[in-house]
Amino acid sequence: MVENNRVRVRFAPSPTGHLHIGSARTALFNWLFARHNEGDFLLRIEDTDRSRSTLLFEKSIIEQLAWLGLNWDEGPDIGGGYGPYRQSERGELYRAKADDLLRKGLAYNCFCTPDELEESREKQLAAGRPPRYEGTCRDISQAQIERFLAEGRKPTLRFRMPEKKITVSDVLHGEVEFDGSEVGDFIIQRSDGGAGFHFAVVVDDGEMEITHVIRGNDHLPNSVRHVPLFEALGYRAPLFAHFGLIVGEDGAKLSKRHGAVSVFEYREAGYLPEALNNYLALLGWTPPSGEILGLEEVADAFELEKVNKSPVTFERSRLDWFNGRHLRATPPDQVARLAIPFLERAGLPVDDFELVVKAVDAARENSILLVDIPTYARIFLGPFEVQEEAKEELAKGYVPQVLDAFRSLVVATDELDLEGAEGVLASMRESFKPLGIRGRELFHPMRVALTGQNVGPDLIRTIVLLGKDEVFQRLSRSYDLANELLSEESED
Ligand code: GLU
Repeated sequence: MVENNRVRVRFAPSPTGHLHIGSARTALFNWLFARHNEGDFLLRIEDTDRSRSTLLFEKSIIEQLAWLGLNWDEGPDIGGGYGPYRQSERGELYRAKADDLLRKGLAYNCFCTPDELEESREKQLAAGRPPRYEGTCRDISQAQIERFLAEGRKPTLRFRMPEKKITVSDVLHGEVEFDGSEVGDFIIQRSDGGAGFHFAVVVDDGEMEITHVIRGNDHLPNSVRHVPLFEALGYRAPLFAHFGLIVGEDGAKLSKRHGAVSVFEYREAGYLPEALNNYLALLGWTPPSGEILGLEEVADAFELEKVNKSPVTFERSRLDWFNGRHLRATPPDQVARLAIPFLERAGLPVDDFELVVKAVDAARENSILLVDIPTYARIFLGPFEVQEEAKEELAKGYVPQVLDAFRSLVVATDELDLEGAEGVLASMRESFKPLGIRGRELFHPMRVALTGQNVGPDLIRTIVLLGKDEVFQRLSRSYDLANELLSEESED
């Protein structure tokens, strides 16, 4: 069905929570590898654990992946030639494959009860041995099987784990050898007929003709079970690549203790998908040359064999740095669209999209996250108001004179475009030099008078964007306010 050598990789989340930042990195590495090799990237939902999987989490994972822009070629929502793409819909296939192994003697019925298994586990632990299934039912007779069935016992099916050296071929770890006899026969079909986790993964990877399994190091010990299963089922085992997991700055696996861990939380906090992708891609992989920004460029340069197999440390400050860069490098209208929900949440009007684009474009100069944008976009979108903490700046004796001069220059300027605004500021500088008022002393009150805030975008840009009428109105109001503040002060 597939042309020879066509790369096929998959992202196989279990829908038991929102998309974790570590899983997003797994998805990203698979996506990058597929795109680099012009192969297929599949999305498969691993919901064999029915008690913990929900459709809500599946929807959420799909939504966050789409937001990240990691588009898939086959998946539960779009179908494809190897479906279904939800494990819960593949039960018949797993049962057929399990029967097959049973018939060939590669799997067997196990009637051990949970109590018996627990007892054996405890015994092994007490003896200082790592617990594994001891093979109690490995060789029971057909007559015994009939008796158990007649008693109404429901068997599980266990895979007869080969007791030999098992080699996992890993792009990052090389040839990793495991001793198969240390693993123990594991369950491929539960007593309710449902597929065991490892079994479903291997049947799916085999049936879906997956060529490379790229996932975190936490799955490396699983591959010792997977390799002989691929063989028993008659599939060619994929090549593995187990990479280093993300840890917090304390060296422990990244978890809620370290702060936000789900992609959703980062999105809500105002990170851009491009920044998150860019940061996650370079976390544990260094591009061969220079700076890389866009996802397509990263895909072009991506080399799976150069991904770090050791743990990598998540640094929020570095992610922030990436976000600031992307915030400034993304086309303004795109940033505006991403910023709109944040502006709305801050109660700012967003109906004039052209104005929103301009305001966001100016505001991003001062912002690191989208959540910072309303603070500065407010200057252009919100009603004019001098903030409490900025008033002090207007309450200085020389300020009314500065604002009066500023306003007169604005009135006298025909067109308050870039050039006009530059002219106004130059004249202000000249006029106040003889009075010894310069630099911040001169320009900061002007900023507050125009924006009502202590911090904001470049002054010339602010003037141009506000336009002559609005600048005039605001200066007049601030002039009155400055006088009021001064007279209050003299009354005290
Ligand atoms: N469903 C597994 C998980 O979410 C992934 C299994 C795999 O990649 O082989 O951790």
